[in-house]
Amino acid sequence: MRQIKFFDTTLRDGEQAPGFSMKTDEKIALALQLERLGVDIIEAGFPATSPGDFEAVERIAAVIKNASIAGLCRANKAEIQTTWNALKGAAKPRIHIVIATSDIHLETKLKKSKDEVLRMAVDAVTFAKTLCDDVEFSAEDAIRSNPDYLCQVIEAVIDAGASTVNVPDTVGYTIPAEFETLILYIRSKVPNIERANISVHCHNDLGMAVANSLAAIRAGANQVECTVNGIGERAGNAALEEIVMMLNVRKDIFNDIICKIKTEEIYRTSKLLSSITGIECQPNKAIVGKNAFSHESGIHQDGVLKNPFTYEIMTPASVGFPGNKIVLGKHSGRNAFTTRLTDLGHTLDTAAMEELFAEFKILADKKKEVHDEDLDALVYSRSNVDKVHFELEYVCFSSGNKHVPTATVVLKTPSGEVITDASTGDGPVDAAFRAIERISNVNSRLLKYKINAVTAGKDAQGEVALTVSFNETDGISARGYSTDVLVASVKAYINALNRYVARGMKSK
Ligand SMILES: [Zn+2]
Repeated sequence: MRQIKFFDTTLRDGEQAPGFSMKTDEKIALALQLERLGVDIIEAGFPATSPGDFEAVERIAAVIKNASIAGLCRANKAEIQTTWNALKGAAKPRIHIVIATSDIHLETKLKKSKDEVLRMAVDAVTFAKTLCDDVEFSAEDAIRSNPDYLCQVIEAVIDAGASTVNVPDTVGYTIPAEFETLILYIRSKVPNIERANISVHCHNDLGMAVANSLAAIRAGANQVECTVNGIGERAGNAALEEIVMMLNVRKDIFNDIICKIKTEEIYRTSKLLSSITGIECQPNKAIVGKNAFSHESGIHQDGVLKNPFTYEIMTPASVGFPGNKIVLGKHSGRNAFTTRLTDLGHTLDTAAMEELFAEFKILADKKKEVHDEDLDALVYSRSNVDKVHFELEYVCFSSGNKHVPTATVVLKTPSGEVITDASTGDGPVDAAFRAIERISNVNSRLLKYKINAVTAGKDAQGEVALTVSFNETDGISARGYSTDVLVASVKAYINALNRYVARGMKSK
């Protein structure tokens, strides 16, 4: 049997796509979920690009224990050293070096000869190996590279100590048969190939990323690079959940393959990413779209009721799709609550558990049924609050079709003072934001605003994700949760405001 390693790059390739940027604490929450999902390697970022990326990789490296943590860098000593500085606290660090090998990249981007690039690749891997035992080398745009030159580079970097060699289809250009041939060619032409893992990294520009990754697995690749929900540059990367379920559903074809992914955690991981970024999958998205398991036509419904396998090739439960099972309610005790949170993978100290239990009781009073997603939201709303500077004491809205929208807000300020103010606005949310502007003395402009329901049903908790520019600075994103979407909006706004204030204090 061959084990396929899953290398998740949601936090690096995924995060660099427009609209998908994440704050450090959000990246940590997602990394912890990726670890629960069972991925083998988490690519946490590109530390040399910015201090923010460096900090995120360093903090993720400190909390993740089971998965390897990779950091990407280009083939030069300074970037490799910076990457190592961010990674060195990891239980299992991996330096990931990339340099292009295709003629078009060499001639127009790097302006270097084939020999120069070969030397740079070998020097980079040799240096990285003095710092870190686990070194991955990527030949960017491998699919459009001369196959013999590609093989020459791969052989040289394996000799220099690379333990994984990645063959990316950087531009999403190949088809399964061609990619399979290339992987087989590399296996036959590179004499030391058995000393390294072969990895593939496919992009979805022509909709073939998953198919190409699977073809490579069949040809002998034993690592796939992918992202949750298939997010990533341009049309995105290969979707992790689709590769995993293909391997699981068609065990008859992939009968020599094993992978460690816990499929029941797939849906939760997908939802967490959507709730962090505010971007939902399209409803018909394979595996994790909201229609992925719904049967609309009468004939299909009849068939499924008689035997689910008439139209279902996998069960919703196998990917953790929420049934309408009630988990907890207002009569649930502390023990049931802490047990469920622990089962969901949240490790919290006793004080934090007590605080959350109090919040859970309030929630359970308003909402008869408390689902797993509600419990996740409780935990995430807590980690969403950096350090409380402004605290909401009271908010009241009034609005109607012949009424000027008005909000009254009582806030506790960082100095401990309690201030009441009221304002009118275009709507009740706008009115509340204006009242907070007056109390905090911080001007704001709303850049993005989105409401999601955490679960189904009329009494569902609302999640508001917003991005606000304070005093004309770049946007700060935050989330707020409540069974009342107006209150969730105010909580999200105050979370963003607190982040802005915290950032100001840090820069001083
Ligand atoms: Zn990529």
